[in-house]
Amino acid sequence: MEKSNGLRVILFPFPLQGCINPMIQLAKILHSRGFSITVIHTRFNAPKASNHPLFTFLEIPDGLSETEKITNNTKLLITLLNRNCESPFRDCLTKLLQPLDSETGDEKQRISCLIDDSGWMFTDPLAQSLKLPRLVLNTYQVSFFRNHFVLPQLRREMYLPLQDSEQEDIVKEFWPLRKKDISRILDVETELLDPFLEKVLKMTKASSGLIFMSCEELDQVSLSQAREDFEIPIFAIGPYHSHFPASSSSLSTPDETCIPWLDKQEDKSVIYVSLGSIVTISESELMEIAWGLSNSDQPFLLVVRVGSVRGTEWIETIPEEIMERLNEKGKIVKWAPQQDVLKHRAIGGFLTHNGWSSTVESVCEAVPMICLPFRWDQWLNARFVSDVWMVGIHLEGRVERNEIEVVIRRLMLETEGEAIRERIQLLKEKVGRSFEQNGSANQSLQNLIDHISSL
Ligand code: UDP
Repeated sequence: MEKSNGLRVILFPFPLQGCINPMIQLAKILHSRGFSITVIHTRFNAPKASNHPLFTFLEIPDGLSETEKITNNTKLLITLLNRNCESPFRDCLTKLLQPLDSETGDEKQRISCLIDDSGWMFTDPLAQSLKLPRLVLNTYQVSFFRNHFVLPQLRREMYLPLQDSEQEDIVKEFWPLRKKDISRILDVETELLDPFLEKVLKMTKASSGLIFMSCEELDQVSLSQAREDFEIPIFAIGPYHSHFPASSSSLSTPDETCIPWLDKQEDKSVIYVSLGSIVTISESELMEIAWGLSNSDQPFLLVVRVGSVRGTEWIETIPEEIMERLNEKGKIVKWAPQQDVLKHRAIGGFLTHNGWSSTVESVCEAVPMICLPFRWDQWLNARFVSDVWMVGIHLEGRVERNEIEVVIRRLMLETEGEAIRERIQLLKEKVGRSFEQNGSANQSLQNLIDHISSL
């Protein structure tokens, strides 16, 4: 770690697992380069401060009721948090920006900037009024962030429902998504999304910079297009997952018994199944996944989050006879130490919802994927995995036992899987090179450090 450079950065993550992990990783990177770190966070989904003794954590109230805290409606959560947190965040930030320590009267460390998530809607005008430069950390893939502003236009221009003949057509404004992917996204998203997107775009353009956990090797075309579109400095500092693991920012306690269980399995024999921290599925979808795994006859590690199967507590609705079969071949946990799991020699494939973090964690460990996206950017990440990088097989939304069984066998046992495995190994190496001295991610990180230091 470099010695302190006398500058402090304030970070304000959005309180969802997929947003907290990249922000804490960014905090670790900046700290390793000499910056002091203050993390302002909501009481809801607060990161574990004790895991990061070198950072200062400041909690603000979020006003969420107990029922609001357990909602599966992410849009509602974004609206409520933005409504409730503006005033406490303003008070907290204003206090931090006072030049003198209120208790000791000493001069405080200079604060160079605020870095927050693009999900916060009030931070741009607030930072401007306080004359504090603001950078945005975006937790999507670059192409999703750049192109998703076109969704309102696509809603107006695409004639839904689609004809069968046009389902597979590529949408040129949102390459490599197909029309059927867009219709799935728009199925869930209403016109209410449009003013939200307009605001995010405006706030991003007004910011002092945009940071992505991606790199030229993963998303080169979109990165140069984004630089033209936004006309602000853009930093693609790489998927830093293997350098700064996200496990310390896990909101749930990972079941560490996964690792000794994996130790007993053969090399590249286990299929790991996890749908991230937000996706919920129906009881029948759980049953199809369970049957598909059982019939594939491959060992598996399945994560079922408590409350993620709608209408049930956990896996109590799986009948006894299937549970017996499942227990013979696999292990079911409530939350896994995902990065350690993906690193394990026994893992041969990852059936994933393709959240961006899960996708890059899998690339960084060269684990081929089976793509089962459910919402929003997951559809695009899945298309990159299956159609662009060709490092996985897309289930095309078919949560059916036979499909799952067949796809697992194709990936784990057949020559098609071998070829995919070779390609993901090459992609991992390419991404790895971006962290070398003259690599794109390394240079972008240096540019970010210079930029923040100059603000
Ligand atoms: N994760 C984990 N254990 C699990 C499932 C997920 O540690 O059992 C972590 C995973 O490593 C990733 C994050 O949770 O860093 C999920 O982020 P992602 O962007 O993939 O999906 P989201 O949860 O935002 O849908």
